[in-house]
Amino acid sequence: MTALSPRADTARRDHGAAAPVLEIDGLDVRYGRARRSRHALRGVSLSVTPGETVGLIGETGSGKSTLARAVLGLVEASAGSIRVGGEDVTGYGARRWRALRRRGVVQYVFQDPLRSLDPDLTVEDSLTEPLLVQGVPGKEAGRRARAYLDRVRLSEDLLRRLPGELSGGQRQRVAVARALVTGPALVLLDEPVSALDSANRVQVLEILKELRDSGTALVLISHDLGSVAGTADRIAVLYRGELVEVGTARDVVNHPRHPYTRLLVGSAPTLHTRTADRTERDALRAQLSG
Ligand code: ADP
Ligand code: MG
Repeated sequence: MTALSPRADTARRDHGAAAPVLEIDGLDVRYGRARRSRHALRGVSLSVTPGETVGLIGETGSGKSTLARAVLGLVEASAGSIRVGGEDVTGYGARRWRALRRRGVVQYVFQDPLRSLDPDLTVEDSLTEPLLVQGVPGKEAGRRARAYLDRVRLSEDLLRRLPGELSGGQRQRVAVARALVTGPALVLLDEPVSALDSANRVQVLEILKELRDSGTALVLISHDLGSVAGTADRIAVLYRGELVEVGTARDVVNHPRHPYTRLLVGSAPTLHTRTADRTERDALRAQLSG
Protein backbone atom coordinates (compact mmCIF):
# COMPACT_ATOMS: atom_id res chain seq x y z
CA MET A 1 0.00 0.00 0.00
CA THR A 2 1.48 3.33 -1.01
CA ALA A 3 0.40 6.82 -0.06
CA LEU A 4 -1.15 7.14 -3.49
CA SER A 5 -4.64 5.76 -3.97
CA PRO A 6 -5.65 6.95 -7.41
CA ARG A 7 -9.33 6.68 -8.05
CA ALA A 8 -10.56 3.80 -6.02
CA ASP A 9 -13.56 3.74 -8.34
CA THR A 10 -11.53 3.47 -11.56
CA ALA A 11 -12.44 -0.15 -12.04
CA ARG A 12 -16.14 0.61 -11.79
CA ARG A 13 -16.03 3.33 -14.42
CA ASP A 14 -15.98 1.24 -17.56
CA HIS A 15 -14.34 3.47 -20.13
CA GLY A 16 -13.35 0.57 -22.35
CA ALA A 17 -16.65 0.03 -24.12
CA ALA A 18 -17.39 3.50 -25.56
CA ALA A 19 -15.93 4.85 -28.82
CA PRO A 20 -12.97 7.19 -28.14
CA VAL A 21 -13.52 10.97 -28.09
CA LEU A 22 -9.91 11.37 -29.17
CA GLU A 23 -7.90 9.01 -31.34
CA ILE A 24 -4.36 9.96 -32.26
CA ASP A 25 -2.58 7.53 -34.53
CA GLY A 26 1.08 7.69 -35.52
CA LEU A 27 1.21 11.48 -35.16
CA ASP A 28 4.33 13.32 -36.33
CA VAL A 29 4.67 17.10 -35.97
CA ARG A 30 7.66 19.03 -37.26
CA TYR A 31 8.57 22.65 -36.81
CA GLY A 32 10.61 24.55 -39.39
CA ARG A 33 10.93 24.14 -43.10
CA ALA A 34 12.16 21.27 -45.25
CA ARG A 35 15.64 20.01 -44.38
CA ARG A 36 16.00 22.27 -41.35
CA SER A 37 12.79 20.97 -39.76
CA ARG A 38 12.86 19.16 -36.44
CA HIS A 39 10.44 16.61 -35.05
CA ALA A 40 8.52 17.86 -32.03
CA LEU A 41 6.40 14.67 -32.00
CA ARG A 42 7.20 11.33 -33.51
CA GLY A 43 4.81 8.39 -33.95
CA VAL A 44 2.49 9.36 -31.10
CA SER A 45 -0.61 7.19 -30.69
CA LEU A 46 -3.09 7.79 -27.90
CA SER A 47 -6.81 7.45 -27.45
CA VAL A 48 -9.11 8.91 -24.83
CA THR A 49 -12.54 7.46 -24.07
CA PRO A 50 -15.60 9.51 -23.03
CA GLY A 51 -15.39 10.81 -19.50
CA GLU A 52 -11.83 9.62 -19.03
CA THR A 53 -9.06 11.79 -17.55
CA VAL A 54 -5.63 11.24 -19.09
CA GLY A 55 -2.57 12.88 -17.56
CA LEU A 56 -0.04 13.80 -20.23
CA ILE A 57 3.33 14.12 -18.51
CA GLY A 58 6.76 15.14 -19.74
CA GLU A 59 9.59 17.56 -19.12
CA THR A 60 9.70 21.01 -20.71
CA GLY A 61 10.19 20.72 -24.46
CA SER A 62 8.97 17.11 -24.65
CA GLY A 63 6.10 18.11 -26.96
CA LYS A 64 3.10 18.33 -24.62
CA SER A 65 1.80 21.68 -25.85
CA THR A 66 2.51 20.64 -29.43
CA LEU A 67 0.28 17.61 -28.97
CA ALA A 68 -2.54 19.77 -27.60
CA ARG A 69 -2.08 22.29 -30.41
CA ALA A 70 -2.21 19.51 -33.01
CA VAL A 71 -5.48 18.18 -31.57
CA LEU A 72 -6.93 21.71 -31.75
CA GLY A 73 -5.76 22.16 -35.35
CA LEU A 74 -3.35 24.95 -34.35
CA VAL A 75 -0.32 23.12 -35.76
CA GLU A 76 -0.29 20.76 -38.71
CA ALA A 77 0.41 17.04 -38.52
CA SER A 78 3.21 16.01 -40.88
CA ALA A 79 2.14 12.36 -40.59
CA GLY A 80 -0.50 10.31 -38.84
CA SER A 81 -4.11 11.05 -38.07
CA ILE A 82 -6.29 12.68 -35.43
CA ARG A 83 -9.95 11.89 -34.82
CA VAL A 84 -12.01 14.06 -32.52
CA GLY A 85 -15.45 12.80 -31.54
CA GLY A 86 -15.17 10.16 -34.27
CA GLU A 87 -14.47 12.80 -36.95
CA ASP A 88 -11.16 12.66 -38.82
CA VAL A 89 -9.88 16.23 -38.46
CA THR A 90 -6.41 15.62 -39.90
CA GLY A 91 -5.74 18.28 -42.51
CA TYR A 92 -8.86 20.31 -41.68
CA GLY A 93 -8.52 23.92 -42.82
CA ALA A 94 -9.22 26.99 -40.68
CA ARG A 95 -12.88 27.15 -41.70
CA ARG A 96 -13.74 23.55 -40.77
CA TRP A 97 -11.87 23.99 -37.49
CA ARG A 98 -13.87 27.10 -36.66
CA ALA A 99 -17.07 25.18 -37.28
CA LEU A 100 -15.90 22.31 -35.09
CA ARG A 101 -14.88 24.68 -32.29
CA ARG A 102 -18.21 26.48 -32.51
CA ARG A 103 -19.96 23.15 -31.95
CA GLY A 104 -17.88 22.98 -28.78
CA VAL A 105 -16.75 19.36 -29.20
CA VAL A 106 -13.26 20.17 -27.96
CA GLN A 107 -11.98 23.01 -25.77
CA TYR A 108 -8.52 24.14 -24.71
CA VAL A 109 -7.19 25.87 -21.63
CA PHE A 110 -3.91 27.51 -22.60
CA GLN A 111 -0.72 27.19 -20.60
CA ASP A 112 -0.91 30.94 -19.96
CA PRO A 113 -4.35 31.66 -18.44
CA LEU A 114 -4.25 35.19 -19.82
CA ARG A 115 -4.33 33.70 -23.31
CA SER A 116 -7.45 31.66 -22.56
CA LEU A 117 -9.42 34.78 -21.66
CA ASP A 118 -10.11 37.90 -23.70
CA PRO A 119 -8.72 40.79 -21.60
CA ASP A 120 -11.64 43.02 -22.68
CA LEU A 121 -14.43 40.63 -21.68
CA THR A 122 -15.90 40.55 -18.20
CA VAL A 123 -16.04 37.21 -16.44
CA GLU A 124 -19.76 37.08 -17.24
CA ASP A 125 -19.19 37.69 -20.96
CA SER A 126 -16.32 35.18 -21.06
CA LEU A 127 -18.60 32.53 -19.64
CA THR A 128 -21.74 33.30 -21.64
CA GLU A 129 -20.07 33.88 -25.02
CA PRO A 130 -19.46 30.20 -25.92
CA LEU A 131 -23.09 29.46 -25.02
CA LEU A 132 -24.51 32.37 -27.03
CA VAL A 133 -22.44 31.25 -30.05
CA GLN A 134 -24.21 27.90 -29.78
CA GLY A 135 -27.59 29.63 -29.78
CA VAL A 136 -28.39 29.28 -26.07
CA PRO A 137 -30.81 32.12 -25.12
CA GLY A 138 -29.28 34.96 -23.08
CA LYS A 139 -31.16 34.29 -19.87
CA GLU A 140 -30.28 30.60 -19.86
CA ALA A 141 -26.65 31.41 -20.75
CA GLY A 142 -26.47 33.76 -17.75
CA ARG A 143 -27.92 31.11 -15.48
CA ARG A 144 -25.40 28.51 -16.64
CA ALA A 145 -22.52 30.99 -16.35
CA ARG A 146 -23.41 31.58 -12.70
CA ALA A 147 -23.79 27.84 -12.09
CA TYR A 148 -20.29 27.23 -13.48
CA LEU A 149 -18.81 30.06 -11.49
CA ASP A 150 -20.20 28.31 -8.45
CA ARG A 151 -18.75 24.95 -9.57
CA VAL A 152 -15.26 26.48 -9.71
CA ARG A 153 -15.92 28.01 -6.29
CA LEU A 154 -15.90 31.64 -7.30
CA SER A 155 -18.35 34.21 -6.06
CA GLU A 156 -20.89 35.96 -8.29
CA ASP A 157 -19.30 39.24 -7.23
CA LEU A 158 -16.64 38.54 -9.86
CA LEU A 159 -19.07 38.51 -12.81
CA ARG A 160 -18.42 42.16 -13.70
CA ARG A 161 -14.63 41.96 -13.41
CA LEU A 162 -12.09 41.87 -16.22
CA PRO A 163 -9.35 39.19 -16.29
CA GLY A 164 -6.78 41.83 -15.29
CA GLU A 165 -8.73 42.40 -12.08
CA LEU A 166 -8.48 38.77 -10.96
CA SER A 167 -5.77 36.86 -9.12
CA GLY A 168 -3.92 34.09 -11.00
CA GLY A 169 -5.95 31.41 -9.26
CA GLN A 170 -9.28 33.13 -9.99
CA ARG A 171 -8.30 33.66 -13.61
CA GLN A 172 -7.41 30.00 -14.07
CA ARG A 173 -10.73 28.94 -12.57
CA VAL A 174 -12.62 31.26 -14.93
CA ALA A 175 -10.64 29.75 -17.84
CA VAL A 176 -11.58 26.25 -16.66
CA ALA A 177 -15.25 27.25 -16.27
CA ARG A 178 -15.28 28.80 -19.75
CA ALA A 179 -13.81 25.64 -21.31
CA LEU A 180 -16.38 23.42 -19.62
CA VAL A 181 -19.52 25.58 -19.68
CA THR A 182 -20.83 24.18 -23.00
CA GLY A 183 -20.37 20.59 -21.84
CA PRO A 184 -17.76 19.62 -24.48
CA ALA A 185 -16.84 15.99 -25.05
CA LEU A 186 -13.15 16.76 -24.57
CA VAL A 187 -11.12 19.47 -22.84
CA LEU A 188 -7.33 19.78 -23.05
CA LEU A 189 -5.78 21.68 -20.16
CA ASP A 190 -2.17 22.75 -20.66
CA GLU A 191 -0.33 22.98 -17.32
CA PRO A 192 -3.53 24.17 -15.58
CA VAL A 193 -1.99 24.27 -12.12
CA SER A 194 1.69 24.97 -12.81
CA ALA A 195 1.43 28.72 -12.29
CA LEU A 196 -0.64 28.42 -9.11
CA ASP A 197 0.42 28.42 -5.47
CA SER A 198 -0.04 25.13 -3.65
CA ALA A 199 -3.39 25.98 -2.02
CA ASN A 200 -4.90 27.01 -5.37
CA ARG A 201 -3.31 24.00 -7.04
CA VAL A 202 -5.05 21.60 -4.69
CA GLN A 203 -8.38 23.39 -5.13
CA VAL A 204 -8.22 23.50 -8.93
CA LEU A 205 -7.31 19.79 -9.05
CA GLU A 206 -10.27 19.07 -6.76
CA ILE A 207 -12.54 21.10 -9.02
CA LEU A 208 -11.28 19.17 -12.06
CA LYS A 209 -12.01 15.89 -10.28
CA GLU A 210 -15.60 17.00 -9.73
CA LEU A 211 -16.02 18.27 -13.28
CA ARG A 212 -14.66 15.02 -14.67
CA ASP A 213 -17.64 13.25 -13.22
CA SER A 214 -19.95 15.32 -15.44
CA GLY A 215 -18.85 13.12 -18.37
CA THR A 216 -16.36 15.42 -20.08
CA ALA A 217 -13.06 13.75 -21.00
CA LEU A 218 -9.99 15.66 -19.83
CA VAL A 219 -6.40 15.65 -21.03
CA LEU A 220 -4.44 17.07 -18.14
CA ILE A 221 -1.01 18.26 -19.23
CA SER A 222 1.76 18.69 -16.67
CA HIS A 223 5.50 18.51 -16.26
CA ASP A 224 4.86 17.25 -12.74
CA LEU A 225 3.64 13.68 -12.36
CA GLY A 226 2.89 14.21 -8.68
CA SER A 227 0.31 16.92 -9.27
CA VAL A 228 -1.87 14.90 -11.67
CA ALA A 229 -1.32 11.29 -10.57
CA GLY A 230 -4.21 11.48 -8.12
CA THR A 231 -6.60 13.04 -10.64
CA ALA A 232 -5.95 11.00 -13.79
CA ASP A 233 -7.38 7.60 -14.71
CA ARG A 234 -4.45 6.96 -17.02
CA ILE A 235 -1.03 8.53 -17.43
CA ALA A 236 0.79 8.99 -20.74
CA VAL A 237 4.48 9.89 -20.61
CA LEU A 238 6.09 11.94 -23.37
CA TYR A 239 9.85 11.92 -23.64
CA ARG A 240 11.61 13.89 -26.37
CA GLY A 241 8.56 13.82 -28.63
CA GLU A 242 7.77 10.14 -28.19
CA LEU A 243 5.17 8.49 -26.01
CA VAL A 244 7.28 6.12 -23.94
CA GLU A 245 4.68 4.81 -21.52
CA VAL A 246 0.89 4.70 -21.16
CA GLY A 247 -0.96 2.97 -18.36
CA THR A 248 -3.36 3.33 -15.47
CA ALA A 249 -2.22 5.97 -13.00
CA ARG A 250 -1.73 3.25 -10.43
CA ASP A 251 0.49 1.09 -12.67
CA VAL A 252 2.59 3.98 -13.93
CA VAL A 253 3.23 5.26 -10.41
CA ASN A 254 3.75 1.90 -8.74
CA HIS A 255 5.42 0.02 -11.59
CA PRO A 256 6.97 2.53 -14.01
CA ARG A 257 8.64 0.70 -16.89
CA HIS A 258 10.56 3.34 -18.83
CA PRO A 259 13.70 4.81 -17.19
CA TYR A 260 12.37 8.34 -17.69
CA THR A 261 9.09 7.47 -15.96
CA ARG A 262 11.05 5.94 -13.07
CA LEU A 263 12.98 9.19 -12.81
CA LEU A 264 9.71 11.18 -12.76
CA VAL A 265 8.21 8.97 -10.07
CA GLY A 266 11.40 9.15 -8.05
CA SER A 267 11.54 12.92 -8.17
CA ALA A 268 7.88 13.47 -7.23
CA PRO A 269 8.15 13.68 -3.43
CA THR A 270 4.39 13.54 -2.88
CA LEU A 271 4.18 10.05 -4.33
CA HIS A 272 6.22 8.43 -1.54
CA THR A 273 7.21 5.36 -3.48
CA ARG A 274 10.33 3.34 -3.05
CA THR A 275 10.98 3.33 -6.77
CA ALA A 276 14.02 5.48 -6.94
CA ASP A 277 16.27 6.62 -4.15
CA ARG A 278 18.98 9.15 -4.83
CA THR A 279 21.63 6.77 -6.19
CA GLU A 280 19.15 4.99 -8.38
CA ARG A 281 17.97 8.36 -9.65
CA ASP A 282 21.51 9.36 -10.58
CA ALA A 283 21.96 6.07 -12.41
CA LEU A 284 18.72 6.64 -14.34
CA ARG A 285 19.82 10.16 -15.26
CA ALA A 286 23.12 8.82 -16.59
CA GLN A 287 21.27 6.16 -18.58
CA LEU A 288 18.95 8.77 -20.12
CA SER A 289 21.67 11.18 -21.12
CA GLY A 290 23.60 8.39 -22.88
P1 ADP B 1 6.30 21.29 -23.89
O1 ADP B 1 4.92 21.86 -23.95
O2 ADP B 1 6.34 19.85 -23.49
O3 ADP B 1 7.22 22.11 -23.06
P2 ADP B 1 6.43 22.07 -26.70
O4 ADP B 1 5.39 21.28 -27.37
O5 ADP B 1 6.14 23.48 -26.39
O6 ADP B 1 6.91 21.29 -25.36
O7 ADP B 1 7.77 22.02 -27.56
C1 ADP B 1 8.28 20.81 -28.10
C2 ADP B 1 9.50 21.13 -28.96
O8 ADP B 1 9.12 21.87 -30.10
C3 ADP B 1 10.56 21.94 -28.25
O9 ADP B 1 11.82 21.53 -28.69
C4 ADP B 1 10.26 23.36 -28.71
O10 ADP B 1 11.42 24.15 -28.69
C5 ADP B 1 9.77 23.14 -30.12
N1 ADP B 1 8.79 24.17 -30.54
C6 ADP B 1 7.62 24.45 -29.91
N2 ADP B 1 6.92 25.40 -30.56
C7 ADP B 1 7.68 25.74 -31.63
C8 ADP B 1 7.53 26.68 -32.71
N3 ADP B 1 6.43 27.44 -32.82
N4 ADP B 1 8.52 26.74 -33.64
C9 ADP B 1 9.62 25.95 -33.55
N5 ADP B 1 9.82 25.06 -32.58
C10 ADP B 1 8.88 24.94 -31.63
MG1 MG C 1 4.07 23.43 -22.92
